[in-house]
Amino acid sequence: MRGSGRFFIGGNWKCNGTIDSVTKLVDELNAGSVPSTVDIVVAPTFVHLERVQRTLKGPFQIGAQDCWVSKGGAFTGEVSAEMLHDMGIPWVILGHSERRSLCREDDELVGMKCEYALSQGLKVIACVGETLEQRDSGHMWDVLDAQLAAIARHTSMDHWVDLVIAYEPVWAIGTGVVATPEQAQASERLEGPGAACEVHAHVRKWIAQNVGPEVADTLRILYGGSVNEGNCGTLANLEDVDGFLVGGASLKGPSFIDICNAQN
Ligand code: PGA
Repeated sequence: MRGSGRFFIGGNWKCNGTIDSVTKLVDELNAGSVPSTVDIVVAPTFVHLERVQRTLKGPFQIGAQDCWVSKGGAFTGEVSAEMLHDMGIPWVILGHSERRSLCREDDELVGMKCEYALSQGLKVIACVGETLEQRDSGHMWDVLDAQLAAIARHTSMDHWVDLVIAYEPVWAIGTGVVATPEQAQASERLEGPGAACEVHAHVRKWIAQNVGPEVADTLRILYGGSVNEGNCGTLANLEDVDGFLVGGASLKGPSFIDICNAQN
């Protein structure tokens, strides 16, 4: 823990859920006990946002998984930042690797989306992360720096307070590849937490040098990629890890509640 002091847990429900499963998940979360010292944000699909907003109790906050890059209008299929703000949705995830790869969102678009959402009063979880090919071919730092640079280029100084960065190595998302520090030493490839330490420190240094030391000191840097109830305790103890962005395990209420209690 290094950033602003409050640990942050995001639950990215991705393209999952039926009325029944969302109702069950919300019931499980409402029944769980979570520390008041942690910021918790769950991000259902757009169609489930209103139901979750109506039924999920505090201290859980709600986020969307994406929004459009500019003011709404003739953009079929899109949802604007103004609409989310108007609905009282405080958070949005932007630049998730699945959107970068499957929807061809490039660094520039993600940077523009971040600033537009921030300018409309939303708070942003901005995702960065390298693929295995980029890591193995030695391009990882260039890739990460370019992703950060696009976000930094567009984000105005007074908006950084409403932004958290999620480092999600693409090779760790949904793969179960998160090693313990001991495993990380034993294998080059299984280096989830090792990678988290190294990359989180790099991100903070990059932000200090390119945005400013005050922003770097308070910025929360989340780790994402196969976080679950079994590994969250180890990950939560890593120096520069200020929270998690959780995919698969956020769909299981008891697991997500355990993750919210990772620091205990
Ligand atoms: P995972 O997903 O926890 O299922 O690996 C993380 C994410 O994509 O945000």
